[in-house]
Amino acid sequence: MAELILSLTRQVADFPRPGVQFKDLTPVFADGHAMTAVVDALAAFAFGADLVAGIDSRGFLVAAAVAARLGTGVLAIRKAGKLPPPVLAERYELEYGSATLEIPADGIDLRGRAVVIIDDVLATGGTLGAAARLLERAGARVVGAAVVMELEGLGGRGAVATLPVHSLSRA
Ligand code: AMP
Repeated sequence: MAELILSLTRQVADFPRPGVQFKDLTPVFADGHAMTAVVDALAAFAFGADLVAGIDSRGFLVAAAVAARLGTGVLAIRKAGKLPPPVLAERYELEYGSATLEIPADGIDLRGRAVVIIDDVLATGGTLGAAARLLERAGARVVGAAVVMELEGLGGRGAVATLPVHSLSRA
């Protein structure tokens, strides 16, 4: 699994900023065998959750497929400004500046629901941490997080230490 993901990942130096080694998982998602294996593995981890939450935007690709496999619903955790009000918002720090994630504050009752968060890449953990705080503020029980690739050495897992994190590959 890890070998398959790593062999298909395109590494792009200095994108989107100088010094960043961008991991482009587009070829992983575009490969039927790899995509099926990724969805199977993430669904096995998320089994028992009653909602799968995907992080904007590459997390959506996998989260929706995992939810369909498990027969659960899916929640899109959006970047700021995409959802109509009212929203719950959580700001977090990036290497340069800050960003905000949002979920609807109305129309969906997350209280007591067991949620697994899914994203493509875990780097510093800021994004995952903000997503978890957002869901917890809405009353959900965040039972775990899963990513297709974890970038070791950036401290992401430590940044969300209270959350069980499952990664399908490490780079
Ligand atoms: P972080 O908050 O630092 O853990 O960053 C994770 C989020 O940013 C994920 O949604 C990733 O899609 C994206 N990301 C951060 N660093 C990279 C990278 N080197 N390659 C690909 N995506 C990245």
